[in-house]
Amino acid sequence: MTHAELDRAFTAAGAAAWGGVVYERLLPWLSTAARSDVENLCRRPRMVLTAAFPYYAGDRPGNLSLYARGEDYHRVVTRRLDTICDLLRKEYPEESFFPAADNSPLPERQAAWLSGIGLRGENGLLILPPYGSYVFLGTILTGAALELPTAQPAPPCIGCGACRRACPTGALGRDGVAVERCLSELTQKKGELTCAQTDQLRSHPLIWGCDTCQRVCPYNAAPAPSPLPEFFTGLVDRLEGADLEGLTNRTFREKYADRAFAWRGPAPLRRNLALKEE
Ligand code: SF4
Ligand code: SF4
Repeated sequence: MTHAELDRAFTAAGAAAWGGVVYERLLPWLSTAARSDVENLCRRPRMVLTAAFPYYAGDRPGNLSLYARGEDYHRVVTRRLDTICDLLRKEYPEESFFPAADNSPLPERQAAWLSGIGLRGENGLLILPPYGSYVFLGTILTGAALELPTAQPAPPCIGCGACRRACPTGALGRDGVAVERCLSELTQKKGELTCAQTDQLRSHPLIWGCDTCQRVCPYNAAPAPSPLPEFFTGLVDRLEGADLEGLTNRTFREKYADRAFAWRGPAPLRRNLALKEE
């Protein structure tokens, strides 16, 4: 497929931007185990295509992170990328194409940056004006030798530092995010929390995720809304105790099967809700 044909395919799939990078360039970000996982999936990995899908649906009140309110992005992005994979499979019947969204060993953000998509945010995110950092990333891994123009790596953001200053736990430093202190991770953590973590969650407005370092970013001051219906219709903005009452793990997963906040089951959500009521 030509670059122009791929461009049309990504646009038809709803991607706001896309690019490709030779797999070898991602090796510095892959552990030995991750490389082996990639190579088990794709015996001779050659190319990683990365695409960005906008999800901002307005600043609606709620207690879930903005990314978690629409249909589960893993499903949406993979489904949309699969339409491109189908075209590629027809064109290259000898090759394999593996779509993924936040569930593969590939370093998606680095792949996007190296592909020249958007800007490298100091908050560790990809920023894609006019959508800001409210974009989901997805990748297509392949052994096909696609011929794409060489991309310049994405430039950095303006580096204003607002994200680091606003981070409520000091998790965000110049070297990236200390995951163990990040509230987005802590809201999803199962099991016991330390006293300090409990205090941090209690004073945090969300019961799932943390949008703080995105909300303060100047590129997110007036983000363009998502054109993708999965991310602006049927939204769940807020969960209350009553929404979870009487649900077992199984019935919870059935009720919220298509939501990104459901993968940990109801326990972390119940705990986080209870902390707000104490
Ligand atoms: S998501 Fe929240 S806790 Fe995590 S780095 Fe950003 S501001 Fe800090
Ligand atoms: S808040 Fe400032 S430093 Fe942080 S990602 Fe946005 S532009 Fe970059």
